[in-house]
Amino acid sequence: MSNIAFIGLGIMGSPMAVHLQNAGHTVKGFDLNPSNAQKLVDAGGRAVTSIADAVRGADVVAVMVPDSPHVQAVLAGEKGVFETAEPGALIIDFSSIRPDVTQELAKQAAERGFRLIDAPVSGGEPGAVNATLSIMVGGSAEDFAAAKPFLDTVGKTVVHVGTNGAGQTVKSANQLIVATNIQALAEAVVFLEAYGVELGPALDVLGGGLAGSAVLNQKREKMANREFAPGFRIDLHHKDMGIFTTAAREAGLVTPAGSLIAQLVASARANGDGHLDHSALLRGVERLSGTLNKEN
Ligand code: NAD
Repeated sequence: MSNIAFIGLGIMGSPMAVHLQNAGHTVKGFDLNPSNAQKLVDAGGRAVTSIADAVRGADVVAVMVPDSPHVQAVLAGEKGVFETAEPGALIIDFSSIRPDVTQELAKQAAERGFRLIDAPVSGGEPGAVNATLSIMVGGSAEDFAAAKPFLDTVGKTVVHVGTNGAGQTVKSANQLIVATNIQALAEAVVFLEAYGVELGPALDVLGGGLAGSAVLNQKREKMANREFAPGFRIDLHHKDMGIFTTAAREAGLVTPAGSLIAQLVASARANGDGHLDHSALLRGVERLSGTLNKEN
């Protein structure tokens, strides 16, 4: 059993840290918002007040924060992981960030004698709560093997996809597919409702055919009930679409659907929906169609 530091105990990090604690590891959690450590403490873990406290004595350091600058601050910032962690510690970054940033951080980690893998996840809050996440891992085969038992504790589909950065590249593709799916589902829901078709049976039959998807299963109720508490915030998907469109452009690719979806996510955010779940792309469809009920 290992000593694990878990940094970032938000919607995803909190249940993941709890699973690791419940598996018999000793988990110390740190979040800028101390109340986010409550569930870990209830599970028998410890809440600490700094990164240095969290990584003291830890052989594994897990990170689950929102974006590239947060990961850079946590790892390479003053009194961050690189300055304070135990020699040789295995750093597992679960956050979804820019592939080039994780590559640079992996280089810095190696220079300081640490091991770092990028291990972004997919499966949403239910995936984190049920320990059924898909985890796409970039890093060396040795570091992947060392991390695998911990990844298996929080995920179901754990795949080594390449060297450092490859996990983030796969995650970026994931976010394109998910957002495009959500937008299509949102347009379908608004379309079905406009024709007075009962949504439940319609989505049941769609879900059984080629239109079925994890997005449909996980988001249909939220859309039907206009219940958009996150889940996965539109602000974060905006970040991910930025990563995708920038990386696609740098590769010289033309990805028109991706660009359009990125704009629609940006529009949702510009209209004040950034704090809502990404299923609230439905509100953008209604906004464009002139049917948005502002009370919802
Ligand atoms: P969140 O905002 O709920 O949690 C992030 C946590 O990090 C917050 O509690 C915040 O206080 C903490 N934090 C930020 N900077 C910190 C720092 N310097 N030190 C310590 N704590 C810090 O976000 P989330 O939904 O849990 O997402 C986390 C990451 O996982 C993001 O990269 C996101 O894109 C990705 N992700 C989220 C989901 C989802 O469904 N929510 C699914 C897959 C991947």
